[in-house]
Amino acid sequence: MLLKDKVAVITGGAGLNGLGFATARMMANQGAKVVILDLEVANPADAAAQLGPDHLGLVANVTDKASCEAAVEQIKAKYGRIDVLVNNAGITQPVKFLDITGADYDRILDVSLRGTLYASQAVLPVMQSQNSGSIVCISSVSAQRGGGILGGPHYSAAKAGVLGLARAMAREFGGQNIRVNCVTPGLIATDINKGKIPEDKRQTILDGIPLGRIGEPNDVAGCVVFLASDLSKYCTGVTLDVNGGMLIH
Ligand code: NAD
Repeated sequence: MLLKDKVAVITGGAGLNGLGFATARMMANQGAKVVILDLEVANPADAAAQLGPDHLGLVANVTDKASCEAAVEQIKAKYGRIDVLVNNAGITQPVKFLDITGADYDRILDVSLRGTLYASQAVLPVMQSQNSGSIVCISSVSAQRGGGILGGPHYSAAKAGVLGLARAMAREFGGQNIRVNCVTPGLIATDINKGKIPEDKRQTILDGIPLGRIGEPNDVAGCVVFLASDLSKYCTGVTLDVNGGMLIH
């Protein structure tokens, strides 16, 4: 078991078809006690219950610092430690550059980028007190190739921001044995893109993927588990591409 008795917190993990829940399930199978944080509408308690009685689901909005801090207090009270944080919550919007409004910009950047800041700020003091921890941030291939699949330019910017923030955290907290790494998924079949890719565009996308298929949530979950676990204990500040070869650079 790669995560035996580790406490792993996953933001945006309640969507049963999403990357966060696939990661939660794989982490639970690897022995972790999993805490799923998500918006009330996503029902994180129900999602956690599907993993079994050792796990916890809490309502937390990553755009709200107090909400992240309140969740961490509850996690500390129940488990006494936090070993892993997966900054997974994110939203997207297919819109062209000149059409992005200020409200669109705020909404998209707030969840991925501000959310990564606030959830990490809430969890880091716990990891500092333990002198150990692993944070995995979910960016996107969109950050690396300038979008072009589904998300607009503000989504690319948010996810590129996540890469910079994570690398800076890796530098600042490495001395306290806290690792921070990113995963950059390509196109993975989840609710975020369900029914949103026209059939003709789908074939063009597939033609550009050397492995010849769209990704599955478990393709990403496996890489997140690797970065969360001690298998990767000399990795920090890395960006792990999970895109079937869509972007080889
Ligand atoms: P998803 O929509 O299933 O998951 C996103 C989750 O984030 C949802 O459960 C949602 O309720 C939650 N969320 C939204 N706003 C939140 C907030 N303010 N606070 C807490 N939780 C919030 O989609 P997914 O595809 O599983 O996406 C997971 C992550 O992976 C996202 O960051 C997304 O940008 C990223 N990503 C996805 C793909 C893909 O192709 N699916 C590719 C690259 C990156």
